[in-house]
Amino acid sequence: MKTLRLILGDQLNLQHSWYNSVEDHVCYFMAEMRQETDYAPHHIQKVVAFFLAMREFAAKLEAAGHQVIYLKLDDASNTQDLNQNLLASAESIGASRIEYQWPDEYRLDQQLDELDNQFEGVVEPVDSEHFLTSRFELREFFKGKKTYLMESFYRMMRKKHQVLMEGDQPVTGQWNYDANNRKKLPKGHRPPEPKLFERDVSSVVEMLTKSGVKTIGTLDEKRFLWPVTEEEGNELLTFFVDECMPHFGDFQDAMTPEYWSLYHSRLSFLINSKIIHPMTVIRAVEERWKADRDHASISQVEGFIRQVLGWREYMRGIYWAKMPDYASLNFFEHDRQLPSWFWDGNTKMACLRHAIKQSLEYSYAHHIQRLMVTGNFALLAGIHPDEVDQWYLGIYIDAIEWVEITNTRGMSQFADGGIVGTKPYVSSANYMKKMSSYCDNCVYDHKKKSGEGACPFNSLYWNFYDRHRDKLGRNPRIGMMYRTWDKMAPENKAALLSQANDYLNNIEAL
Ligand code: FAD
Ligand code: SF4
Repeated sequence: MKTLRLILGDQLNLQHSWYNSVEDHVCYFMAEMRQETDYAPHHIQKVVAFFLAMREFAAKLEAAGHQVIYLKLDDASNTQDLNQNLLASAESIGASRIEYQWPDEYRLDQQLDELDNQFEGVVEPVDSEHFLTSRFELREFFKGKKTYLMESFYRMMRKKHQVLMEGDQPVTGQWNYDANNRKKLPKGHRPPEPKLFERDVSSVVEMLTKSGVKTIGTLDEKRFLWPVTEEEGNELLTFFVDECMPHFGDFQDAMTPEYWSLYHSRLSFLINSKIIHPMTVIRAVEERWKADRDHASISQVEGFIRQVLGWREYMRGIYWAKMPDYASLNFFEHDRQLPSWFWDGNTKMACLRHAIKQSLEYSYAHHIQRLMVTGNFALLAGIHPDEVDQWYLGIYIDAIEWVEITNTRGMSQFADGGIVGTKPYVSSANYMKKMSSYCDNCVYDHKKKSGEGACPFNSLYWNFYDRHRDKLGRNPRIGMMYRTWDKMAPENKAALLSQANDYLNNIEAL
């Protein structure tokens, strides 16, 4: 009675109970497949990171004595289709049972569901033992509620997992330190040099090129910088706690063309591929704070824990509560195409140029670059959410649909009409000027609203509110904006709208 156990590319959790003992009748199955490289044009660093991490993981299992079938992308027997590969491998070892961990993507969930009809033996899914909530826990938590307030979910999680808690009260008496965080990077301030890794990945790149996999972005194939093993993940985590934690909250929202990751952890790929468990990250930060409260203040620590324990689990819960409908929501009925410069960064707007070029160079941008630069522009310009999703899904090393789509379509594009956010995240140049140094070296003038050289964000911002009044006018969090708009002199309003239309009609030239 042989069992074949599937391990997907984002299920690299060595601590899973599957691996507690070596069993003769169990064989593990992993495969690099075109069905995964081709569902969006991915960044080359993302594809390389996943394949490398999978190969390292398979090698660890084998070294521990487990049996592993590993299909490389160019293996002759690789059908490039998950179920066909699985069925063929099951037959080759005479397996009467296939087990898999619940996948985190809806499309894979559907695909693996079909195994029941395709395989004559027993098919059994098990938990991935990764998340801190079950698939439908958030849906149950908010049952009967119209709004899904992250803050109440987060407080429940703090209590449930006893993180920064004393009984059912926050350890410092305060739940939320958002107000203390979010400063601009002072002139001359130098964040720590990011901890990078080095690997020669030319053989993987050669395989991708020969196979004709289409990718975006660049990489240095002699010095691949992302960590792909648990040991490297722990090194990056230690670096984060030692060097970045002290200012994480302070500069969480800051942006500058000089530094690409500032005080951010860059742990998202490791956590999303399950190489590192979210609770390992949370406890490392919490324990360090408990041991040495002078190292990093509670506002830095709570600000970080909120992201992992709160936002990450919340997004995953929203995904399973709202899929598959979520993937086609388009509240504003936006229908414009992404301008072509989203794919090469060749725009005159300094903020977008930097955020996009950085993303192409590192397969990474931090949260505020994603939300308030690229996302903000896409929303103001009325880009179709499908186009926006495809871009985010492809370009970032940490992009897996459950966390990409909820952040992009939900938080950033408000295409869900307010499930994730209570109002759209849009801003004029004021925000960019306040939180970044981008505007200092831009051909556009951040103070100018219309006319020659006016910053596009200014007119697009008012144009957005004006054209969506029927959908946003009654939102109590936006009332102020409409009162300001209504008080504006008619000629100023007309100039703003005409400027915005001009920019939208010439979007490729911006
Ligand atoms: P840090 O700033 O160091 O934060 C620590 C950790 O908190 C992250 O590693 C991540 O695990 C978690 N986290 C923080 N914010 C969020 C959030 N909003 N949702 C879920 N987890 C969060 N994150 C992804 O992991 N994959 C995506 O595809 C993705 N797409 C995004 C698209 C848009 C439009 C936006 C606005 C955000 C997106 N995010 C996504 C969330 C966030 O931007 C990234 O998690 C973060 O930038 C990763 O970098 P980091 O590890 O340095 O994060
Ligand atoms: Fe971006 Fe406008 Fe500032 Fe230029 S002036 S960097 S386009 S916000």
